[in-house]
Amino acid sequence: MGVPISHPNTNRKKKTVIVVGGGYGGVEVAKRLDKTNQFCVILIDRKSYFLHNIAALRASVEKDYAKQILIPYDKLLTNGCVIQAEVTKVTANRIEIYGRSTSLLFDYLIIATGTTYSFPAKDAEINQYDVLPKYDEVRNKIEQAKRIVIVGGGSVGCELAGEIATEFRNKQVTVVHANSTLCEQNLFNPKFYVAAREQLESLGVRILFNERLDTERISQQFRLKDTKYLEGINTLRTDKQTKLTADLLFMCTGTKMNNKSLDAFRSHFSPDGRIDVNNYLQIENYPHIFVIGDISSKEEKMAFYAMKQGDYVASVIEAMHNNKAFNEYQPAQNPAMFLTIGRNGGVGQLPTRGGMVVGKTLVKQLKSKSLFTARFWSLLNQKQSSTLIEQTPDDVERAHGYYKKIKTLLAMDLTEEQAKDLLGELPKTAAELNQNNMENHPLCKSSL
Ligand SMILES: Cc1cc2nc3c(=O)[nH]c(=O)nc-3n(C[C@H](O)[C@H](O)[C@H](O)COP(=O)(O)OP(=O)(O)OC[C@H]3O[C@@H](n4cnc5c(N)ncnc54)[C@H](O)[C@@H]3O)c2cc1C
Repeated sequence: MGVPISHPNTNRKKKTVIVVGGGYGGVEVAKRLDKTNQFCVILIDRKSYFLHNIAALRASVEKDYAKQILIPYDKLLTNGCVIQAEVTKVTANRIEIYGRSTSLLFDYLIIATGTTYSFPAKDAEINQYDVLPKYDEVRNKIEQAKRIVIVGGGSVGCELAGEIATEFRNKQVTVVHANSTLCEQNLFNPKFYVAAREQLESLGVRILFNERLDTERISQQFRLKDTKYLEGINTLRTDKQTKLTADLLFMCTGTKMNNKSLDAFRSHFSPDGRIDVNNYLQIENYPHIFVIGDISSKEEKMAFYAMKQGDYVASVIEAMHNNKAFNEYQPAQNPAMFLTIGRNGGVGQLPTRGGMVVGKTLVKQLKSKSLFTARFWSLLNQKQSSTLIEQTPDDVERAHGYYKKIKTLLAMDLTEEQAKDLLGELPKTAAELNQNNMENHPLCKSSL
């Protein structure tokens, strides 16, 4: 059965905006532009769910919390749509998608492909149902382990140590850190570093400063994939010959850029593989292509800034579309961070000149207790649920989502066949099998 559509495109006046990557930045910009109803907005992500990775480390220690960090995309956009697909190539005027013959043209493109981090900090499973058992598994492993080594005392390493030491008070947790201060060196007020260290140590975490574990050698020796942790009893030595025995070892040594599909812009890559942008967050000489979030070389790499950039780019695209003037992006002048140390602790630095440091009482209330989780459920227009949300609860819902996507893709001058190609197989649900003609579908009649 096909989906017969031969309508003239009623939406053709709308410009197409494609957002590649549905992380913090991508979701923000897509939602904002979709709301204006002036554009045909398509968000593409390889995953079927938004990963609220700010809370991913809590999900590694607290039973069932993982369900809270997987948020479906299906209610994010009202006029546009979210497509689950792997973008393989981005060029100045089109994008290509894995396994599909149709490429997508755009008027405006936002690249928000972010970064990959080793599990459990982030995960790239395409299906949410495959993510849950991984968090269950890592939680069980942590519960069973006696000696846990965390390589890297950046913010992720500190937060993981804090979560483990708070939830399980009987573990020996050691953080091996190559520098003399935790987190990013020389960025924060000295009081910030002292408070972070003191709180971790008061939870019994041992921190080895200025020592290194050879992560490359460990990965090779134990055939460790870069997305995994190392399990089993292993004895390791730091470069200073400190002997460490670990039942579990987590790599918290940094991010990898998701830039494979962006080769066409290689001449704009920064040395670390991010994309350089101008003061309007555009790739120089491509005023219709914007880059935001972790994959951009602008600003510190935080969800907060990815969203701020998304918000700004939405306003620029709206202004460009309506022939209005727009201002340069204003990057943050002063560093800021709220570092969680378990659910009851944390330290923060406010973005004031001189960097005012705030203690655990405030950070606990603002972040550590709830990790902004409710806010992101609301951003994705979902009711927060303690059970995993079925993404296709029934045939009607599912058909509705499918037809909405078809409708949005047709608004991009695609033919019906091309739209179907992009969406993959037709969903085989009772509602659709009984439906011969999309025009008569009750969900589509009024809107097409
Ligand atoms: C454990 C942890 C805790 C953190 N805590 C905080 C915090 O408290 N506050 C804060 O501000 N920041 C925090 N951060 C940093 C924050 O998570 C990142 O800065 C943020 O995720 C960047 O958002 P983004 O939109 O640029 O990209 P990402 O969130 O990395 O999203 C990119 C998206 O693009 C998709 N994608 C990539 N390539 C493709 C492709 N080729 N095709 C299709 N889809 C693709 C991915 O699936 C992903 O969904 C934390 C990070 C970690 C790891």
